[in-house]
Amino acid sequence: MHLECHTETIIYSATSADPEAVSFLQRKTAHDDRLLGGLLADGFDQKSCHSRHQSAVYRRNAGRQPSHHLISKLRSHEALQRRCGPGTAAYTNALEQLKSGRSVASPECRYLVSISYRGLGNRILAAASAFLYALLTDRVLLVDPSHMTDELFCEPFPNTTWLLPPGFPLFNYQSFYLDTPERFGRMREDGVLRTGVTNGSAPAELPAFAYIHLDYNQTDHDKLFFCDDDQRVLRDIQWLVMRTDSYIVPGLFLVKAFEEELDGLFPERDAVFHHLGRYLFHPTNQVWGLIARYYRAHLASARRVVGIQVRVFPWEAESPEILEQIKTCTQNERLLPAVLDEVEDDEPAVAGAQQPTAVLVTSLKAWYSDKMKEMYWERAAADGRVVVVEQPSHEETQRYNVRSHEHKAWAEVYLLSVADMLVTTGQSTFGYVAQGLGGLKPWVLHHVANGTVGWPCSRDVSMEPCFHVPPQYDCKRREDAGLVVPHVRHCGDLPAGLKLVDRRECHTVL
Ligand code: GDP
Repeated sequence: MHLECHTETIIYSATSADPEAVSFLQRKTAHDDRLLGGLLADGFDQKSCHSRHQSAVYRRNAGRQPSHHLISKLRSHEALQRRCGPGTAAYTNALEQLKSGRSVASPECRYLVSISYRGLGNRILAAASAFLYALLTDRVLLVDPSHMTDELFCEPFPNTTWLLPPGFPLFNYQSFYLDTPERFGRMREDGVLRTGVTNGSAPAELPAFAYIHLDYNQTDHDKLFFCDDDQRVLRDIQWLVMRTDSYIVPGLFLVKAFEEELDGLFPERDAVFHHLGRYLFHPTNQVWGLIARYYRAHLASARRVVGIQVRVFPWEAESPEILEQIKTCTQNERLLPAVLDEVEDDEPAVAGAQQPTAVLVTSLKAWYSDKMKEMYWERAAADGRVVVVEQPSHEETQRYNVRSHEHKAWAEVYLLSVADMLVTTGQSTFGYVAQGLGGLKPWVLHHVANGTVGWPCSRDVSMEPCFHVPPQYDCKRREDAGLVVPHVRHCGDLPAGLKLVDRRECHTVL
């Protein structure tokens, strides 16, 4: 059995996103649009987080509509976060229980602590994944406040906090790793926790917490997390601490017990991160300032904005091959015009003033955008259009916990997401976040191997991020995990990975 998906041809119509039809300044949004069709709760203090209410004006692509079920689930989850979150009696009781080291029967509230680590894209995907797991299992989500979470994102839940407060009894939780005795996979391997025996068993037999290790080096026992039997055991443990830097959501779609609920929440399988991301991640006012000022200065008056994410590493030399790949990709796919070889006199005549095409390049290096800029200045575009190439920053190195660096990275991910069309670098979580927030199915640049590029880029099958280190097999039948359900498939940019695709794009071939 194999699964086939059809890719869609480019759709770029004046009715959907052409700012020649609707300019930035004219764009008005209805109240419901500002709340993204009911995805966002009303009643937040607008001044404390401008992005939450202004983002709809900046987005050229309105995005997908959330299902009614998702909207009502979010409202009831917000109530749970308020009822059980930090500062409540329930939270104090749960901390006491955790300190005692004993589990409790039918606890009033259960918790999931998500550890933050690695780059911004990784952290965003991990938090979104943890949130979906919390939503499916009725747990309160608390995120590790390290890596400037509070400086980058507004609080997502009204009248409570999602930040794990100081004084958490598992004081070394940020360094939980493979050797942590309470690692779920280890407890399963050692027989401390067994499936099938917890139902009805005394809660004292269960630990007060379990550590879920889903980093790249997870063991086969850790991967049991994606199995129904193991989910039944985890359900009865009051505190879970999770480490992942990945988008584990496709793995949750393999758990039978979650199937029906996920069906109702996300009838469009390819818009899961799109909704979760737009719900959770609102830039703080400081980051929003970077976004809004850049947008107004460089993108607002453009006819079309093409975002190009060039993910290079600090130690890599400038690559003429990658530059060629970007040019060939954008021109072959008709995202950008080709340039003329002829002298200036032969430049195509264009009547009247015209709005330029803006190219937003993000990269750690300036070389790629400098070369593109040079090309469109020195030579005329074949269609006579003006192409303006800009890059907000070139940080040269990757840094962690440096305020201005983190702010710029988040602002650039966000700016990419407001483009009309997007070119990304395969396997980069930075690009995944931009495509998902923007509701954009990207053109993905293939990796240059040994200085040669086979095919410059191809259109992704969905805007969903790829889960880089998924379980290889389904729990029961040991079937290839990418063949179990039609909407979970292997990723184009990383064949071992898994990603969600819309069911309507796939059919099963027997
Ligand atoms: P990934 O490593 O490509 O999956 O993306 P991550 O976002 O997880 O990690 C890369 C980190 O490098 C980011 O968080 C930034 O700190 C930095 N970085 C990489 N590319 C860019 C870029 O284009 N612009 C900026 N400002 N920072 C970048």
